[in-house]
Amino acid sequence: MTEKLSAVKGMNDIAPPASAHWEWLEDKLCALMRRYGYRNLRTPIVEPTALFVRGLGEVTDIVEKEMYSFEDRLNGEQLTLRPENTAGVVRAVLEHSLLYEGPRRLYYMGPMFRHERPQRGRYRQFHQFGAEALGFAGPDVDAELIVLACDLWAELGLTGIELEINSLGQPAERLAHRQALIAYLEAHAGQLDEDAKRRLHSNPLRILDTKNPAMQELVNAAPRLMDHLGAESLDHFNRLRGLLDAHGIAYRINPRLVRGMDYYNLSVFEFVTTQLGSQGTVCAGGRYDGLFEQIGGKAAPAVGWALGMERILELLKEQNRLPAQPAPDAYAVVPDVAHVPRVMPVLRVLRQQGVNVQMHAAGADGMGSMKSQFKKADASGARFALIFGEQEVQQDAVALKALRGPRSDVPAETAQSLLPLAGVADWAARLRAP
Ligand code: ATP
Ligand code: MG
Repeated sequence: MTEKLSAVKGMNDIAPPASAHWEWLEDKLCALMRRYGYRNLRTPIVEPTALFVRGLGEVTDIVEKEMYSFEDRLNGEQLTLRPENTAGVVRAVLEHSLLYEGPRRLYYMGPMFRHERPQRGRYRQFHQFGAEALGFAGPDVDAELIVLACDLWAELGLTGIELEINSLGQPAERLAHRQALIAYLEAHAGQLDEDAKRRLHSNPLRILDTKNPAMQELVNAAPRLMDHLGAESLDHFNRLRGLLDAHGIAYRINPRLVRGMDYYNLSVFEFVTTQLGSQGTVCAGGRYDGLFEQIGGKAAPAVGWALGMERILELLKEQNRLPAQPAPDAYAVVPDVAHVPRVMPVLRVLRQQGVNVQMHAAGADGMGSMKSQFKKADASGARFALIFGEQEVQQDAVALKALRGPRSDVPAETAQSLLPLAGVADWAARLRAP
């Protein structure tokens, strides 16, 4: 007996009806990105491990314990399933000299992999949609990316998403703060939990982001990075704030906001909601002016964000904002299997004319009764039935019957009309969705 196989823990199949929601969301996202002048970049899911484990930089949770890394059996290369895609984008941009002609606005989407404890809103294979603006130094592009995300929430009809911002300053400012922070935390070593002890010297900034209630008082009183920022960093931050104000976008300054990646500087931001339990961050990003050099390229300023598709979809569901399932424009009722060769080419022409039409397909014992075909037609959600009955086909025609009105509160007309098969292209438009 063969063992029953199932998907890997924390990795999900996305099947209908949910997959229609994914497609709908992806379409909305891509259309919005294009309106802001962002273009698509697609990079491999597998990258060299060295892209994520860089000599420089602090140890992050992701690099430390969440990566799916393996050795290529055939050539011994060290490879990793991408845990995020900013590094991949920067690698690709460098590899193809995409900044040669000037700065770039790019977006991507796809699966990411992190070995985390699976729970609501946290999976081992999850999907991000990301936007990256590369080669722009000013806070106007940071603002543009934030405004874009706000437009997205509005377009999706989502409410209750709050913006938090912070500035991480520049590496030298962070270093001074880091020393003050380590000294403070060491002085309170007794109050540190296991995670904090582990991060004390590897990534102390991340301790400020702890979700442990017992540590809140301690981190609230910790030295603030904001107090270590120089005039230039403060100016960048204040200009970003001014631009957000100019758009009427509300935000909260969260001095403890840090990011899971070590390469951020200056602006960092998160969009959070209280409606998803503890996995409430739906979109997160910031500036990463140092990453190009870390990856071995010529320095270039950059800023971006990534949103978690699963969390956005969960929130859409929570707020009743998911669209209805797609329905065909028409359903073809074919009482006699002998007529199928006549019917199928007609349906093909309809589809070529942009009509979404579903054919009643034959089963092992023929087409089934008219009654059961009409039941299926109705269940499909189609607005019209196209009836290819004996009489109609004899007359080289098809009967068109409205199953529902163009609006659900308007009853369908009862009359059927007879349409000539010779002139499909002339009446196809009548069937297309309004
Ligand atoms: P968290 O603090 O929730 O672990 P993070 O800082 O690790 O998030 P990022 O690396 O900034 O997250 O990723 C951007 C977004 O991707 C997150 O805000 C979230 O919406 C989503 N995301 C991150 N990890 C997961 C996961 N394991 N499952 C589902 N979505 C995720
Ligand atoms: Mg994480």
